[in-house]
Amino acid sequence: MYKVMSVNAGSSSLKFKLFSMPDEKVITSGIADKIGHNDAIFNIKRLDGTKVEKILPIKDHSQAVELLIQALLDEKIISSLSEIKGIGHRIVQGGKYFSHSEIFNEDTENKIRQLIPLAPLHNGAHLIAFHAFKDKAPEIGNVAVFDTAFHQTMEPEDYLYAIPYDVSEKYDIRRYGAHGTSHQYLAQKAKEDYLPNVKSPSIITLHIGSGSSLCAIKDSKCVATSMGLTPLAGVMMGTRCGDIDPSVMPFIINQAKMTSDEVYHMFNFESGLKGVSGLSNDTRDIESAINKNNPRAILAAKMFARSIANYLGQYFVRLGHVDLLVFSAGIGENSSTFRKYIIDDAKEALGLVLDEKANEEMIHGKSGYISTKDSKIPMVVIPTDEELMIARDVVKYLNLHD
Ligand code: AMP
Repeated sequence: MYKVMSVNAGSSSLKFKLFSMPDEKVITSGIADKIGHNDAIFNIKRLDGTKVEKILPIKDHSQAVELLIQALLDEKIISSLSEIKGIGHRIVQGGKYFSHSEIFNEDTENKIRQLIPLAPLHNGAHLIAFHAFKDKAPEIGNVAVFDTAFHQTMEPEDYLYAIPYDVSEKYDIRRYGAHGTSHQYLAQKAKEDYLPNVKSPSIITLHIGSGSSLCAIKDSKCVATSMGLTPLAGVMMGTRCGDIDPSVMPFIINQAKMTSDEVYHMFNFESGLKGVSGLSNDTRDIESAINKNNPRAILAAKMFARSIANYLGQYFVRLGHVDLLVFSAGIGENSSTFRKYIIDDAKEALGLVLDEKANEEMIHGKSGYISTKDSKIPMVVIPTDEELMIARDVVKYLNLHD
């Protein structure tokens, strides 16, 4: 038995989960949040399930890593660092360079650095976190796991934009997608648990949370996904607008006398469910407003559902037939109301029949069917587990064993 950590570093946060392998049990998890602030938060779960939470200044990722290592030792979660055999880092943008995970070496690092313009808020932070671990625990191997890698199997017809070809080539402009680790996990789990005897299954995975994306998967490979050059594209989301006529940008700039940065910020952080409802990006708030007949909340939910249903139609055509629809992530795993909205919008065309009772029950981490036997396409809920997928890749790429 040995331990593997999965790390997800953002610009001001560092989330972690420690697994025992190969049995894949979660030992602990936690987060350092508001890094760079005097009232930063550090929390970690003890072995008995209780939580340690501290509010304290954390000046940078290096200090966050120091705190994490100290807490692992102080709380007797590990007795020495040598028990941890590998660390897996979630990397948001792997560009054209990475179609699978890689050991973190100089070449990997240089490529991740080159891709900073494509993911300015993330790739830089990932490298800072990697160096913090390298400094504090130089003997532990590191693996980079890319959110875009799973989508590298798309064909040019699916990943190119219809702009001049030489512009796409020169600047590497294309659809890269995101949530790849989640979609890959869901595809594997769907095949194991629901389609063990189907030879080359066609699946549509719906990762719908505060960020949302869909993926059309044939024979365990991505053929199309809804996010684009950045995670702004695709379906409507919590605060992102999703697909939009590019002319909206210059039009608002001219009419509202806003800068392109301001409009871009609006598309990313003030749009989607939040922008349309005028209330919140959280489906729980939208649902309670719907219960009070708030018309803008109802409109936001219907628009959200329609944008997802439209992609379901598109991917049905792209795949030719679909063996399974998989709902996952915060909304897909917990909101029976939003799942029903989506399915109601697509049911006539795709012959979907929702099992209302199962839909109500399939929440808070449960996995199972939400369709009846009459449904032309079976529908299931599968809780996603990106951290486990990252830990598995650490084992694979560092060639770890007992
Ligand atoms: P994620 O980004 O996958 O963690 O998803 C977070 C989002 O999932 C939240 O912003 C909510 O919109 C939604 N969500 C989480 N829990 C629930 C719940 N119990 N009921 C409805 N929606 C939920």
